[in-house]
Amino acid sequence: MNILTIDVEDWFHILDNKSTKTVKEWSKYEPRVHKNMERIFNILDKVNTKATFFVLGWIAEKYPNVVKEINNRGYEIGSHTTYHQLVYEQNKNEFFNDVNRSIKTIEDITGEKVKMFRAPGFSITEKNKWAFKILYELGIEFDSSIFPASRAHGGFPSYGSAKPSILRYNGVALKEFPINTYNIMGQSLIYSGGGYFRLTPYKLIKKWTNNANYVMAYIHPRDLDPNQPVIKELSIFRKFKSYVGLQSAESKLEKWLADFDFIDVTTADKKMDWNKIKKINI
Ligand SMILES: [Zn+2]
Repeated sequence: MNILTIDVEDWFHILDNKSTKTVKEWSKYEPRVHKNMERIFNILDKVNTKATFFVLGWIAEKYPNVVKEINNRGYEIGSHTTYHQLVYEQNKNEFFNDVNRSIKTIEDITGEKVKMFRAPGFSITEKNKWAFKILYELGIEFDSSIFPASRAHGGFPSYGSAKPSILRYNGVALKEFPINTYNIMGQSLIYSGGGYFRLTPYKLIKKWTNNANYVMAYIHPRDLDPNQPVIKELSIFRKFKSYVGLQSAESKLEKWLADFDFIDVTTADKKMDWNKIKKINI
């Protein structure tokens, strides 16, 4: 089963970087999210595919029409927090308020309960597991924040599973849809989203998708935008990861979605027999 998710944020929502850290900086930059969302809607129309959209509350507050359009087109919406901060830099109170605000904002616009969540930069780690309990308390049922490998911002390598599972922590449970990995020579490779998707040649993506029984694709509107401004202060390595493959990403994504069947989280949920699914205590 292949699931398609979109993290709805703008080109300047880059983590762990001074000039793009908070609302104060963001308000200085030119918005490009509308144009890039059009690219995504066009592709989804062409390939007739559903997706789950994890929307940043800040985007929802500033541009409620973006949320309305996602909702009017019949796609489901989850939260990606309001302020796009690294969760491991927040305390419990800050995280609660941040997620709660995004849920309220989205629900006020759509009139529908928000039940899904993804953390910015997959930044729920072994050190801040308490975040899962807060998500549960806020009515989240489905989470897609587990990145079961090491990465710069977060990652949860000890989760040990790159497949849908029931995540249990401190008396609560969430249906977890982690990012999938491709395992080769003891290494867990990621290819299904962001810079990893742009970097990996389509031939390999196709081959690995063919061999996988679970793929969690995660695309950002900026992944399809070759004309976005370059953030000068990023390191050479981060520049490469942020801007590699932008020219071809749009056609690559369209090809991927045309070559394989992708579904949204709700459809995936219905297909699964959760009684038989692995339960993971973290
Ligand atoms: Zn994000």
